[in-house]
Amino acid sequence: MAKELFAIFGNPVFHSKSPLMHNLAFQDLGFDACYTRYLLENGEKLKETFFTLGLKGINITVPHKEHAYNACDVLDPFAKKVGAVNTIVEKEGKLYGYNTDAPGFLKAISEFKEVKTVLFLGAGGTAQSTSTILRDEGYKVTLLNRSSPRLEKYKKEGFKTFTFDDFIPNTYDLIINMTSAGLEDDSLPAPKEILDGVIPKTKACVDVIYGKETPFLKLAKTHAKPTKDGSDMLLYQGIIAFDYFTDHTYTFDAIKDHMQKAFSL
Ligand code: NDP
Repeated sequence: MAKELFAIFGNPVFHSKSPLMHNLAFQDLGFDACYTRYLLENGEKLKETFFTLGLKGINITVPHKEHAYNACDVLDPFAKKVGAVNTIVEKEGKLYGYNTDAPGFLKAISEFKEVKTVLFLGAGGTAQSTSTILRDEGYKVTLLNRSSPRLEKYKKEGFKTFTFDDFIPNTYDLIINMTSAGLEDDSLPAPKEILDGVIPKTKACVDVIYGKETPFLKLAKTHAKPTKDGSDMLLYQGIIAFDYFTDHTYTFDAIKDHMQKAFSL
């Protein structure tokens, strides 16, 4: 059988850790495949590009997760529910779509015990799939966002939502930064006064941004709170994607042993 080809599609995509993660696992587990990155500028061309490049599977990152959803012939029920696909596998000419971000995130926060209430800072694409899986699992999710338009969808789905102007604070077991604030700048995801009001009463603070200590996590530490960045979320979404790519050939822990080396190189 010819070597199978995989890729990550995104714009930008050069910074992605996925090629390293997947290639380490392919190599160490002896699976004859190779994973590369592809700068996809026009999301409408996702399907055409997939077949032109002769790929077996892809991951999809910003800003193409909705395009990926539209490109699939068969959708996993959870991906269908949230409208976002970050993993596609080709089988007999058909594209099968999955969302591994949300289960990856769920596993990443499972180390925090006795958590029932969660405050999301942000209401973008990542918040969409992760809030849904948390609710499915019985967590109570409140969303606090800078502006109101993105909150409309959540409100309709029955989530409690606030902007900075109308926020009524409560006690939350976990506070999670779901925004890109702090990714390429030094901004907090919400005004400091709001954060200083809710952080002291929480059990821990989590950020989906990885590879750096964000201003949000720095602030959480000044309140002596446990913190966690987005590295495990990235690792776990990758392991679950790899499981689909290799058709459930390996155990989660076997994939993890090899894939996590990408974080120490
Ligand atoms: P979106 O562009 O869909 O949403 C961005 C959100 O951030 C919006 O709610 C926006 O608010 C808010 N926001 C942006 N800048 C600021 C700011 N300066 N202050 C306050 N709020 C701000 O982004 P995504 O959901 O795709 O990504 C969010 C983050 O998740 C990114 O940092 C990304 O790197 C990270 N991520 C991590 C993953 C992992 O594996 N660890 C996987 C996927 C994403 P508004 O509506 O007002 O504009």
